[in-house]
This record gives sequence, structure tokens and C-alpha cells, in this order.
Amino acid sequence: MSEIFKIKESGSLGRGLFTAKLIKKGEQILEFKGPIISYEETKKYIPDMGNPIQIASYEYIDLLAPGVLVNHSCSPNAGVKNDRYLVAIEDILPGQEICYDYSTTMDENNWTLECKCGSPNCRHIIGDFRHLPLDIQKKYLDLNIVQSFIAKKLLANIAQHGISGSGN
Ligand SMILES: [Zn+2]
Repeated sequence: MSEIFKIKESGSLGRGLFTAKLIKKGEQILEFKGPIISYEETKKYIPDMGNPIQIASYEYIDLLAPGVLVNHSCSPNAGVKNDRYLVAIEDILPGQEICYDYSTTMDENNWTLECKCGSPNCRHIIGDFRHLPLDIQKKYLDLNIVQSFIAKKLLANIAQHGISGSGN
């Protein structure tokens, strides 16, 4: 296992992934790996007991460690680039927990998860990307940390209907 992170208990969230040394903004932390499974197969998990990462409308990676241990945060310090690489979006100091926003990978027809990340701007519900506030969607799209199938769908939608919710 890489020496840039270590597994530790993470409060109420169970285990999490923490930095073992400074990880610089833009640095790749890990690749999400595991067998590809269908949406139907993800239902074997009760919420919180496993979090397969969505990579297409009906396709998921059934995550292996260490990727499966990365927790969600509404104030993430990492994000997923090119569908499967966890990358730091800010400098992450030694000993900090590494988290990404699960909504950047979610387009699940309204399946949601309660959030207890504890960040000041916690949304309390983790849901599909398209339900995020528009400013947060834009931030994640600008950082290029939205799964490509979601970004493509949004762009197609904007091309067809224009940007909904933009200021009048
Ligand atoms: Zn939260």
C-alpha cells in the first residue's frame, strides 16, 4: 500500500483514509479499483456498508480497499478525475482525513444517504449531482471532478434547454 495515506478510525463514520504526509493540490492519491457491477448488484449493500462508485448510468466499481474506505464530505479535499482517480483538490496536511463529495459520482434516480460529515456547510443529505445547488455543481465541473457520464448528460441538457436556474 502507498505510503501517502493510512487507514484509521474516523469518528462516527467508521474507518477512513488519512494522509501520512502532505499531499499537494493536484496530486493523485489512489485509483479506485474493483470488479465492475450493475446497478442491480449494488443493492446487496445496505446503506453505509459499502459504497460502490458509479461510473456510468448502470455501471459501478465494487470498490476494494483502500478506495472503499474513502468517506464522503460536503467540504471535500479531494475529487474523482477521469472516473476513477482520487486527486487532491487542495493541499492536504499530514494526519487529515481524505474525503470527496459522493454526489460528484451519483446519478441514481434519487437514492440518498444521510450525511453526518459535520462540516459547517453540510447538506445533511447526499444525493444525485443534479440536485446540488448550481454554484456547487459549477465548482465541481470547473475542477473537472464530476464523473464523465454525468458531465456529458448535463452538457447535452444545457445544449437542449439552456442553463436552468441562472439569474434572470
Ligand atoms: Zn455533509
